Amino acid sequence: MEPQQRSPLLEVKGNLELKRPLVKAPSRLPLSGSRCKRRLDQMEDVLEPEKKRTRGLGTATKFATSHHRAPVVTTVPQTQGQTAAPKAPRKTGPRCSTAVATVLKSQKTVPTAPAQKPGTAAPPNLGGKKPSKRPGWDLKGQLCDLNAELKCYRERTQTLDQENQQLRDQLREAQQQATALGAERRTLEGELARVRAQAEQGQQELGNLSARVLELEERLGTQEGLVQELQKEQLGLQAERRELATRLEEQERRLQTSEAALAGSQAEVASLRQEAAAQATLLAERGERLHGLEMERRRLHNQLQELKGNIRVFCRVRPVLPGEPTPPPGFLLFPSGPAGPSDPPTHLSVLRCDERRGTLSGVPAPPTRHDFSFDRVFPPGSGQDEVFEEIAMLVQSALDGYPVCIFAYGQTGSGKTFTMEGGPAGDPQVEGLIPRALRHLFSIAHELSGQGWTYNFVASYVEIYNETVRDLLATGTRKGQGGECEIRRAGPGSEELTVTNARYVPVSCEKEVETLLLLARQNRAVARTAQNERSSRSHSVFQLQISGEHAGRGVQCAAPLNLVDLAGSERLDPGLALGPGERERLRETQAINSSLSTLGLVIMALSNKESHVPYRNSKLTYLLQNSLGGSAKMLMFVNISPLEENVSESLNSLRFASKVWLPPSPAPSGPLATGFLHPHPFCPSGQGTFIQKGLTMASHLQHTSI
Ligand code: ADP
Ligand code: MG
Repeated sequence: MEPQQRSPLLEVKGNLELKRPLVKAPSRLPLSGSRCKRRLDQMEDVLEPEKKRTRGLGTATKFATSHHRAPVVTTVPQTQGQTAAPKAPRKTGPRCSTAVATVLKSQKTVPTAPAQKPGTAAPPNLGGKKPSKRPGWDLKGQLCDLNAELKCYRERTQTLDQENQQLRDQLREAQQQATALGAERRTLEGELARVRAQAEQGQQELGNLSARVLELEERLGTQEGLVQELQKEQLGLQAERRELATRLEEQERRLQTSEAALAGSQAEVASLRQEAAAQATLLAERGERLHGLEMERRRLHNQLQELKGNIRVFCRVRPVLPGEPTPPPGFLLFPSGPAGPSDPPTHLSVLRCDERRGTLSGVPAPPTRHDFSFDRVFPPGSGQDEVFEEIAMLVQSALDGYPVCIFAYGQTGSGKTFTMEGGPAGDPQVEGLIPRALRHLFSIAHELSGQGWTYNFVASYVEIYNETVRDLLATGTRKGQGGECEIRRAGPGSEELTVTNARYVPVSCEKEVETLLLLARQNRAVARTAQNERSSRSHSVFQLQISGEHAGRGVQCAAPLNLVDLAGSERLDPGLALGPGERERLRETQAINSSLSTLGLVIMALSNKESHVPYRNSKLTYLLQNSLGGSAKMLMFVNISPLEENVSESLNSLRFASKVWLPPSPAPSGPLATGFLHPHPFCPSGQGTFIQKGLTMASHLQHTSI
């Protein structure tokens, strides 16, 4: 630090240094030796005349002289000495004079008068003025003077002793003070050190505080900037606040209006609530009634389907394809029903020219007419939608909880796959029954969801070839040539059947179904290249497990919908040579015929309500056993080729189908006259046919191809 900023501590030290000589008490110290000596010399000077006078007085005089010298040597404090020394003679003078006077008074022999007389002996004068010298003869007077003088000195000695004692006391006191001052000095030095340390600490703190001040100044600058920003913001907010206040006022006005409106509305709401409660009660009643009606509809629908026949047969004739020979006119006839042309066709007549009969008789034999009657006949021009319309009711039955089975039967190329799956993908006009049925199901399930019903659909698609089951929905490594599947019961004691290794895919929209059908086609295509048109030699079974639940009423329903594209029903040409390929083909054909025959026998047994139904005789009937019989609905499409060259197979198919569909009245048999279209004796299709069919089915099972 600079000199002018001297710390308070240093100032204290300076003061202490300055005061130190002041603390000393020089005045109290004893007189120097020279001064004492001078005093003694003066005493000697005073005593010298007496010495000279008393030399002859013997021991008494000597004693007095030596006696009064001792106290003169004692030290006298300078302060008192300076004042006491001049006084001593003054005090001594009169005192000695008094003593001498006293001595003179006590001497009776010596009169006082001569002493007062001029020229007489004067009393001793120690003040400097020597008494007048007594005459030599006045020894007594001299002695008296000497005694007085001696006494005076003694007193003086006593006084000096007292002073000496006082000085000693003062000296002791001064020493004590010096000791105390030394202690005080050490205390002050300690204090000085502490103050110095404090000063250093203060310096450090000062440095820290300076840095802190700088920092705070910086922060102050920042804060000031912030304050300015905040002030700006505050201004903005104030403006905003004013605006908001205005808006608040506006809102309050509107609120008041709204409150008034609310009061009105509340009253209205109360009345509406009452109305709603009444409506809810009504709705519940209507819901109850609707549910009752729905159940009634299901019952009636089922009754209607049963009246139409639990086993129904539709015949479909495909159109002549481009490049195929046109059949002769009248080869296939579609006679009108009893109600005339407006009636949907249910009859089909096939004209067949028997060339062998003509050759034997030599005359061409007239064509043989074969008449067939079914629940419905679809001529070649019938579209897919028209066909679906007829089966939509059956699909509804499946949704209502009744198992449904729809078969497509016929020779290869007669249009079975076209009927079931449809034509080329992407053309909605040629969509088959499977996509249409599923779309219909999804749509109705959606409608029923409004009534509290929830439906789930799970699809599977398998094919049965040579009595082996294969998954058509296999993916990945199993695609096209997946391992064999087995038909097993879902669990011990369970009636439900399941196919092991097969995929069961939940579906909920058309897109998913399309994907599955495409996958099945791909799987069949792979198999086709590997095993030569295997698809036409196998049964394809599309199964949809439908389950519905009305949680509110605790009602459930579940049923399978089966759409089966059967293997080609054609027989092997008996004239063919039996090479290795043909033998394989023969084995395939026998397997197909066996399974188709079993299907016919199962249907017959069900129709006849026989105790034993041979489901186990083929994989197909075993797989479908839960969808056949009882309240199950079965529909068979018999697909017919329009070509004359296929007439034999067409007739076989029609005869097979006729065994399934049995008219209630005597069926026509035998050839009919050419061009004779007799009124068909069949009653309207479906009316009570199921029971009547059952009674007479056995007598009609004469199909040679089975
Ligand atoms: P299948 O499955 O019985 O062997 P397809 O369904 O494969 O016979 O039909 C053979 C051919 O006939 C296919 O080219 C198909 O497109 C065509 N076809 C079948 N039925 C019809 C129809 N109703 N309308 C138009 N084409 C059809
Ligand atoms: Mg096919």
